[in-house]
Amino acid sequence: MHATMMDYPLTLVPLLERAGKLFPDTEIVSRRPDKSLHRYRTADFCRRARALAAALQRAGLAKGEAVATLMWNNSAHLEAYFGVPCAGGVVLTLNLRLPPADLTYIVNHAKPRFLIIDDVLLPLYEQFKKDVALDRVFVVRWNKGSLADGLSDYDSFIEPGSDGFVYPALAEGDAAGMCYTSGTTGKPKGVVYSHRALVLHSLAISLPDVHAFSHRECVMPVVPMFHANAWGHPFACVMLGAKQVFPGPHLDAESLLDLCANEGVTLTAGVPTVWLAVVQALDANPTRWRLKPGMRVLTGGSAAPEGLLRGLERHGLKAMHGWGMTEMAPVGALYSRKLKLDALDTDARYRHLTRQGLPLPLVEMRVVNDAGEAPWDGESMGELQVRGPFIAGRYHNAPEAADRWTGDGWFKTGDVVTIDADGYMKLADRTKDLVKSGGEWISSVELENALMSHPAVAEAAVIAIQHPKWQERPLAAVVLKKDAQATAESLRAHLAERFAKWWLPDAIVFIDAIPRTSTGKFQKAVLRERFKDWQWDKAV
Ligand code: ADP
Repeated sequence: MHATMMDYPLTLVPLLERAGKLFPDTEIVSRRPDKSLHRYRTADFCRRARALAAALQRAGLAKGEAVATLMWNNSAHLEAYFGVPCAGGVVLTLNLRLPPADLTYIVNHAKPRFLIIDDVLLPLYEQFKKDVALDRVFVVRWNKGSLADGLSDYDSFIEPGSDGFVYPALAEGDAAGMCYTSGTTGKPKGVVYSHRALVLHSLAISLPDVHAFSHRECVMPVVPMFHANAWGHPFACVMLGAKQVFPGPHLDAESLLDLCANEGVTLTAGVPTVWLAVVQALDANPTRWRLKPGMRVLTGGSAAPEGLLRGLERHGLKAMHGWGMTEMAPVGALYSRKLKLDALDTDARYRHLTRQGLPLPLVEMRVVNDAGEAPWDGESMGELQVRGPFIAGRYHNAPEAADRWTGDGWFKTGDVVTIDADGYMKLADRTKDLVKSGGEWISSVELENALMSHPAVAEAAVIAIQHPKWQERPLAAVVLKKDAQATAESLRAHLAERFAKWWLPDAIVFIDAIPRTSTGKFQKAVLRERFKDWQWDKAV
């Protein structure tokens, strides 16, 4: 017997068209570079996304061809998120925090002919322009300044509109989007998302047990649209007709809190470093912002310190914790409390929430160590491997990295985790960040979280340092809160309450700031470089 259902491909086109038809009046708000607000209706967004698709088609965009963006989070970027794939192209989001050499490498590797760029980012383009060959560059002119030769105005490009435009025939397996990993090891590697992957990911993250998105929400993605699809939120929000608020280039805590308060944000998402600053601003000024009670704050991308989760909830916000990767679309797990855990006391509840969560529907997980597949017992550590319909099966033109997939078709995440009997995944470390002391593993993440639960500590990062006897030992780099005081001894005593003695960092050094990666995570590679000649006789 054969199934009798329609053969209807999963593509972004019906998501875009539905939003325009059902939720034409829902607003989309963007903060311009000059800090003023740009706002328009979803109907305007759909009209312009369609007009972009039509313009690209007229300009000769070939099926499967990349169109690059170099943009902040804003409505024009959202137009590209939909207009490019709905024209049969692949929206290639360039990470504007990467060094020009990496941008050059990525552009020459993915070979887009067109670039859409925010005017304020033209100085960055100038730095690699001579090393790449782009046919046309469309500038979104937030500042209405004049245009240099060789550049085209984005608004004029899409102005003819979409009369007579017909969407190209798309299969669900067709490429829709592309993002490169940050390349912390080796060259950046490109992941090409299919329409099907983006649609299924949108449905999966919208579920009540995941983000519980609906058209009644107001969502502010702080996580950049130039990295990992802004965790898929822009696609899901258009699918459902939710209001979206885009912060543009203004990512300081006060600007973000102003937007949340003024626009009635109900869910916002970003990396922990953003929320650490937000909690500090709220602590300093608890009554300044009238936030929606219970506003959900999703933290992910690196481990969520318990103190951060508590800090958010102290201000009446709901902390959410998720885990994902560029190689997924990108969310793989989200913390959702099972009914039987409702009985946990407050301390245990927060500790539990530092787990990265349950795998999303359609995401399969397993833990693999030297002994093979490890049981889900909460203790057996190993590498997390995943598979599912919104997980990359290979990188774009990078055969040298084929070993990231196992022979039986699972993706090796490079994360070392445990999974407990209830299915909660807990990340101990990235493989390269683990501290291997005398044949045993020490989780830098757990030490960092414990350090950041100390009232005087603003931020902490733990790295492995070569050791003559133990192979590696942990060094903690600590940033104290403004005007706060703590000694290495007092921090070690704080850690000793929770960890075995051999876990305690042999050195605790105080620094002014922890270097950040292009996506706002702690950049341990830079710290490792800085302390590579560390002499253990200096240790505290
Ligand atoms: P990169 O960090 O190299 O820029 P990604 O943005 O794809 O690349 O990051 C994926 C990695 O981020 C994961 O493999 C994991 O190590 C880390 N990560 C993501 N979410 C979390 C989380 N909630 N807790 C701890 N680590 C996380």
